[in-house]
Amino acid sequence: MKNLLFLLVWVALVPGAFARNELCRESFLKSLKIGNVSSLPFSNVCDLRPEEVPAALRSTIAQLKDLNLGIARAFGAEPEAFFKDGIKLSIVALESGPISSVAGMMAVYPEWAGGPVEPAVYVHEIGHVLMYLDHVPALTALSRNTVINEAFPDLLSRTVMNRPGIDFIDPTLPACGRNLRPAKPSFSYSFRDLFGLHEAVDYQKCCESIPDEEKSPHFKSQCDSKKSYLTYLSTLREGPAFAADCVDRGKPPLGSYRPKRCPGHVFSSPLDHFLGGVEALSGKSKFELVVDSSRIVHRRGDFDCKEVKTGKVSRPTGSAVMSFSEVLRTMRGFVPGSLWPEFDRLWREANVDFATGLDDLEVRRMLEMRLSRYENVCLPGESLEGCEYVCAHVGTFTP
Ligand SMILES: [Zn+2]
Repeated sequence: MKNLLFLLVWVALVPGAFARNELCRESFLKSLKIGNVSSLPFSNVCDLRPEEVPAALRSTIAQLKDLNLGIARAFGAEPEAFFKDGIKLSIVALESGPISSVAGMMAVYPEWAGGPVEPAVYVHEIGHVLMYLDHVPALTALSRNTVINEAFPDLLSRTVMNRPGIDFIDPTLPACGRNLRPAKPSFSYSFRDLFGLHEAVDYQKCCESIPDEEKSPHFKSQCDSKKSYLTYLSTLREGPAFAADCVDRGKPPLGSYRPKRCPGHVFSSPLDHFLGGVEALSGKSKFELVVDSSRIVHRRGDFDCKEVKTGKVSRPTGSAVMSFSEVLRTMRGFVPGSLWPEFDRLWREANVDFATGLDDLEVRRMLEMRLSRYENVCLPGESLEGCEYVCAHVGTFTP
């Protein structure tokens, strides 16, 4: 009883103890932790009373609110329902700045003392959160797919920021080296087109124009990494011609994906072009298209196994393997039949076959990895000798 009384008094005195404050609630944040910022020694800003939140952080929260509203709008959703559990976010100061951000963790430069964070990067990272955290279960099933796992957050960032890519200025660098990732539209799958060989050469010139002893440690490390990056870009050919170029065929049984050859970010540009076109044909936003199609494909199930002896069909348990190719193809159903020729033209224009080709290869590889946990399982087309089950992806690819 005494304990209960103490608890009641404590809850009354510390309003943030159990509930996040209204600033966080109104901004769709579940928690906001600040790390490594000496002027802001707070563990969780959402636990503070509103009047205790410093002005510099109020403006951060206001910026996050605007961006979160933009994200919900992109999905055509009511923000309260869309972010019903709230976003768990941490902001951490790191020498390398925003480029080191990951899902749910926004990195800022060491000088940061509140105020805005890098918006394009924030929206990208929330894109990951939306995929990983079962926020939209159909999307979570896609979060392991090579073609979409980085392209989806990039697509969200491009849309919410209304920019052709993620770019930002690093204020700690000399003027000639500030723009880390110049944004430019491109419908190419070439990494060199997206990130720019020319920009890398210019960056190298900038590094060489400033003597090492005058470089800040951050700029010096940037120059070192850009040097190896430039060497790497120079070794690339014009970009992959075929999806199979993205897979190292030397490794059995189906090779392994080569992220350096075909980095996931490359897919956002052509997909943006394609989805933008389908948006106009269907009246659904790009993200409604992805989510609604994913739901249909998800409901259809990822794959079935048939017992050879009895013909009984079952579905193995385990994390889903979902075909993004099938998600893209399903979008055709949202377009009136009279406009299908236009849908098919957009498909060819953005060379969507390249993305689906890689997705099919990757999905099959994930599927085989998953099936390798079962004994005596075969894929259709293989000899049925010794197979207890034959498993096939439902309506997804022809093995
Ligand atoms: Zn990412």
